[in-house]
Amino acid sequence: MTEDDVDASIKSPPAKRRRGKKDEVEVDEKTVEEKVKVEQDGVGEVKVTKKRTTKKKETITMVVPRTQGSSVSIGAHVSTAGGIHNAITNLLMIGANAFALFMKNQRKWENPPLDPEFAKLFIAGCKEHDIDPAKCCLPHGSYLVNLAHPDTDRKKQAYDSFLDDLIRCDRLGILLYNFHPGNANATTREEGIRLIAEAINRAHKDPATGKTVPVLETMATLGNTIGGTFKDLKEIIDLVDDQTRVGVCLDTCHVFAAGYDLRTPEAYAETMKKFDEVIGLKFLKALHINDSKAPFSSNRDLHARIGTGYLGLRAFHNIVNDTRLHRLPMVLETPVDVIGEDGKKFEDKSIWAREIKMLESLVGMDVESDEFRELEAKLQKEGDAERKKTGDAFDKKLAKAAKPAKATKAKVKGAEPKPLKAKAAPRKKKAAKKVEAEDEDEDEEDE
Ligand SMILES: [Zn+2]
Ligand SMILES: [Zn+2]
Repeated sequence: MTEDDVDASIKSPPAKRRRGKKDEVEVDEKTVEEKVKVEQDGVGEVKVTKKRTTKKKETITMVVPRTQGSSVSIGAHVSTAGGIHNAITNLLMIGANAFALFMKNQRKWENPPLDPEFAKLFIAGCKEHDIDPAKCCLPHGSYLVNLAHPDTDRKKQAYDSFLDDLIRCDRLGILLYNFHPGNANATTREEGIRLIAEAINRAHKDPATGKTVPVLETMATLGNTIGGTFKDLKEIIDLVDDQTRVGVCLDTCHVFAAGYDLRTPEAYAETMKKFDEVIGLKFLKALHINDSKAPFSSNRDLHARIGTGYLGLRAFHNIVNDTRLHRLPMVLETPVDVIGEDGKKFEDKSIWAREIKMLESLVGMDVESDEFRELEAKLQKEGDAERKKTGDAFDKKLAKAAKPAKATKAKVKGAEPKPLKAKAAPRKKKAAKKVEAEDEDEDEEDE
């Protein structure tokens, strides 16, 4: 997700975060009384009517009904601003058949109780629209949680947040829960892996977590990050006692950046074979569907719109035509920031609506057809400037790394182990986003 997605469960977001949220509900105390009614009308339009006791009725009309009977389950990470139930409205607006959301503010440590009224509306909304959250919902964990942290207090704080999220999932009928495995900045990789598995085992034993399945996300970076290789994830899973309750989410951008190619049918088959041999395909529970602004093996986590990045449309054709993945939730985390007519940036979520339909249309599409070739070329052209920018930066970095002597060792991203003494010093709140990140690039990385 990108920095602008920090809206989950925030009741009073800072002013700057509110810019451009055109299609979202203004958040205030009155949203408790809000009733959301979504109707599917006869001409294939979804009408979203929001009735509130204190504000005038607003109707947002979108022309993107959810595709019925598609063999793929595709959606996006939707906002829960104003309450968790708003995720339903937001997924209906973009025609999503799968979705992700944050269970609470993903950049804060607080665990405010789940509002029972919102929970009820969420469950009722799922029922009304025939959405099975146990199958198509993949929440995303907090960015602050690092279950691999060995420090007693930090470990407790991370575990409490993780456990609280799992309990929320169970209350809402959500089965899968995606999270970043963690990093070994303050310990060894081996110990970090052991700590992550230990936390999963502990959560499994807590009856309040129900049958929820913690899902480990594949990561883009190497170095101290845990999850940049399939082997890391396998080692965690090996230490989990109940392996029916653990899984992996494959992020297309992340694995590509970490050196697993998906671009050609052969490369894709090879990567999936590796996944199966190292981890086991039965553990694959979901996918994050993102193109990559950064080149292959760059270890950069920079999401691009589908078809515009270094992965290209063919990679996504490979994925949606792999019948082994057809039952899994596929969640877009592609950037939707655009510049409006007023020169201000806003989130245009209709981009996700179009990407969902496009990905669905790739199922069974002939890659030799004019339709595919034209679409592929058009999207690559859209991403030309962005690819050139990150490609040039990557080339420079490689050139720098190739230079002998002093500059080399420490400058290769993620390769520098943090000194052990750093473990006791929790960093300042304003650096929250980067607390657990090793990446020292200036560009904003996605997650
Ligand atoms: Zn990412
Ligand atoms: Zn993530």
